[in-house]
Amino acid sequence: MLLFTPGPTPVPEELRWAMAAPAIHHRTPEFENIFANTKASLLALLGMQEVLMLASSGTGAMEACMATFCNNTALVINSGKFGERFAKIATALGRSVHEIKHEWDTPANANEVLEALGKNTNIDAVFLQACESAGGLRHPFEDIASAIKEHNPEIFVVVDCITTLGVEFIDTHNIDAVIGGSQKAFMLPPGLSIIGLSEMAVRRIEQCNVGYYFNLANELKNQRKNTTAYTPATTLIIGLAEYFQKVLIDGFYHVYHTTKARALGTQKAMQILGLQIYPKVPAIAMTTIAHEQADTLRKTLKSDFGVNVAGGQDHLKGKIFRINQMGLLPVHECAWVVNAIELTLERLQLRKFDGSANTAFLQTYYAEINKQAPGDHPKQ
Ligand SMILES: *Cc1c(COP(=O)(O)O)cnc(C)c1O
Repeated sequence: MLLFTPGPTPVPEELRWAMAAPAIHHRTPEFENIFANTKASLLALLGMQEVLMLASSGTGAMEACMATFCNNTALVINSGKFGERFAKIATALGRSVHEIKHEWDTPANANEVLEALGKNTNIDAVFLQACESAGGLRHPFEDIASAIKEHNPEIFVVVDCITTLGVEFIDTHNIDAVIGGSQKAFMLPPGLSIIGLSEMAVRRIEQCNVGYYFNLANELKNQRKNTTAYTPATTLIIGLAEYFQKVLIDGFYHVYHTTKARALGTQKAMQILGLQIYPKVPAIAMTTIAHEQADTLRKTLKSDFGVNVAGGQDHLKGKIFRINQMGLLPVHECAWVVNAIELTLERLQLRKFDGSANTAFLQTYYAEINKQAPGDHPKQ
C-alpha cells in the first residue's frame, strides 16, 4: 500500500532503522550531542535565531505560541480546519479573537489583514498557516508577514508551517515563530513539534513565564544547554537527526526542487484528466482535487490500486481528495499515483484510460527538474 496522505507521511527505511536502535537516556552527553546537531540543522533550515523542540503533536506548539505571543487579541486567518484551530486555542486560553474567514479554497491577502489591524488596535499577534492543509491552499504568508511588520513591527507574526517546512524555502525574515511537526515533510511518526524563533520572540520568551508543560521560557533555558525541561521525544529526535543526514547529502535546495517538480507534475496530470484542482492557489505540499465522487474514487484507488490518499473534512467531506507531495518521495511512486487515478476513472466509467496522466506527469516533472538550479540558498 502506498501511503499518500498529507500527514502522516511514509517513514523511510533508514529513518525507521535509526529509531529502532536501543534506547539511550536523555540526560547523557550522547543524547545532548544528537540534540545539539539536530538543533543546528533546524536552525540552518529555518534561518532563525533559536529553535525549540517539544514532545507534542503540532497543535501543542500552536497552543504554546498562542499562550506566549498573544496577551490581548489574536488575529487569526481561517481558511480551513487549522486556521479555525488557532481561533479555538485563543478562545480556550481566554484571548479575544478577530477572525478573517474565507472559504477553504480561498487564501487571505495582505490588504484585509492591514484593514483588520487598523480597525482593532488591540491585536498584538497574528496567526496563520503557510499552507492550510484542510483544502491544500497556500496563503501569501510572506506578503502578509511583511505588511504586518511594516504596519507595526511589535506585532508578533506566528506562521504554522507544518506542511511547508522541508517542502519549500521559507523566508522567515518577518516571522517571529515558525511552527513545524514531525509527521509531515520530516517523514517521521507524530509526536515532535518544532518552533523556530526570531530575536523578538526570544526576547518575549525570556521576559514571560506562562504555562507549565508548554512554558517556553523554561524550555529555552534548558534547550540552550541541549537538554529539555521534561523527557524529550528522544526516538523522534534521533529520527530527525537521521532525516538531516539523508537530506543534507544533496542539500535542502534539492528537496525543494524535486518536491516542486513532483507537485507541478501531479497538478498537470490531474488537469489533463479533466479533474479540478480545488484551491485557488495550490500549495506544493499536497494536490487537492474537487470531485463529486471523491469518496468512491478514494475507495477504488485503495482497494484496486493500492494507493491511500486523504479525503476532506466537515463540509468538504466526500467532496475532495488530497494527494501528498511532502517528503523524499520516489518519483516512480508519484507516477504510479497519477496512473492509478487515471485507471480509477476508467473503472468508474468516467474516462477511458490512455496514459495521459503519466505522460503529463513525466513531461512536467522533467521540464522542471532540468531547469537551471539557482544553487543553495546562502542560509540553507
Ligand atoms: C498536521 C497539521 C497540524 C498539526 O496537527 P497535529 O495533529 O496536532 O500534529 C497543524 N497545522 C497544519 C497546517 C497541519 O497540516
